Amino acid sequence: MIRAFLTKVGILSNKSAKPGTADGGKPIIIDRSQHGISRANISENALKVLYRLHRHGYQAYLVGGGVRDLLLGLHPKDFDVVTNAKPEDIRRVFRNCRLIGRRFRLAHVYFGHDIVEVATFRGKTDEQSEDLSHSEKGMILRDNVYGTISEDVWRRDFTLNSLYYNIADFSVVDYTGGYADIKAKRLRMIGDASVRYREDPVRMLRAIRFACKIGFEIPQDLSQPMLELKELISHVSPGRLFEEMMKMFHSGSAYPVYEQLIKHQLFAELFPATSDALKQASFPTHELLTIIFQNTDNRIQQQKTVTPSFIVAGLLWHPICLQAQTHIDNGIAVFPARIQAIEDLLRKQGQRISIPKRIVQGAREIWMLQMRLVRRHGKRAQQLMMEPRFRAAFDFLELRALAGEPVGELVSWWKEYIEGDPAQRRELVKALGFKKKKKKIRRKREEDPAT
Ligand code: ATP
Ligand code: MG
Repeated sequence: MIRAFLTKVGILSNKSAKPGTADGGKPIIIDRSQHGISRANISENALKVLYRLHRHGYQAYLVGGGVRDLLLGLHPKDFDVVTNAKPEDIRRVFRNCRLIGRRFRLAHVYFGHDIVEVATFRGKTDEQSEDLSHSEKGMILRDNVYGTISEDVWRRDFTLNSLYYNIADFSVVDYTGGYADIKAKRLRMIGDASVRYREDPVRMLRAIRFACKIGFEIPQDLSQPMLELKELISHVSPGRLFEEMMKMFHSGSAYPVYEQLIKHQLFAELFPATSDALKQASFPTHELLTIIFQNTDNRIQQQKTVTPSFIVAGLLWHPICLQAQTHIDNGIAVFPARIQAIEDLLRKQGQRISIPKRIVQGAREIWMLQMRLVRRHGKRAQQLMMEPRFRAAFDFLELRALAGEPVGELVSWWKEYIEGDPAQRRELVKALGFKKKKKKIRRKREEDPAT
């Protein structure tokens, strides 16, 4: 009796309801007067889409992160809509619409720069269906079987992501006990975590991201299988991993995410070379990453922009230094050794996570400037300050000093130079010592460690 009640209010999971099999179980309906979600906090465009679908006779719900974040009192960053209208129907209802996706076919409804994503309910898994395909390892490759809300819900990942806000009566529809889980600060997988991680290994990263972002614990039954299945991350496409990496590090909880990725040995799957650098004592890699991630989180909290190139620069900086040392030990001069190391590491990392060219280029400039900031004679310091990436490169140098790299004096010099008037700047350059003859400088350049 008690168990039946707890199951009904969602405190206990409905064990008979297996993912992927609609068992006809009745959802809990949380009335508009109880859940506290106000339409004032839902984007105007998402509401337009919901109302329009509803007016055309379709069911229309907000689902996923939008509902979760509203219930948690956070500001959702986007609103996902789900409906029983098929993609072609959605296109007929909205002129400003494009169908996208192969793995999941979705509609994007455009309002200028704003896009509202509209999905059709996913259906029961028919293992024979051509619309569903798995890899040898159990990973879902394509999933375009349509269904009803009571089928769709079991395909979602966590109970807190499986709540539907119904535009017809403004209630929240809860099949999995997600509402009670949110209230109890509980992250719970729908179904067996191992099976769900095997189907889609990105769910391991999502578990960490959500737990860190909203401050929930990662329970043992979600945590343990990560250690066993971590290698499956390497089967995920590098493009998808890039998207997930951006979400993890821009969530406002980059540092806790980093700690959890290390704890669950997933960091090494995403950034193998950085993980190797962490194991060596040569550079303060952990300190640098800690400072960069904490800095990123602070900036997001203050609603400042964060530069993905900067994070990439931080992640690969010490692996690059280590690799450059190997090249130097093999007789290559310092400057070309560094350049070669940069390209080596970008190639290696690109096999795991495909980082867009523009972000890579930004990181490359920050790394190159780390070497150039050492050489300040003559007009060089003045020219360096004109470089578009100078500020980012100097900030990066400062973080390296904070992390414990021996570049403190260089940072102080640059600080004085940046703040100084022209006369003071001339003095600072003069104090570096006399400029040597050109020929000698060229030779020196090749011997000079870039610090
Ligand atoms: P946010 O947008 O804040 O990152 P979200 O939960 O909305 O979080 P989305 O990627 O926008 O994440 O996905 C929307 C919803 O789709 C999720 O809430 C979840 O219900 C479902 N979903 C997304 N990715 C998966 C997945 N890998 N496995 C199962 N369900 C998923
Ligand atoms: Mg979302």
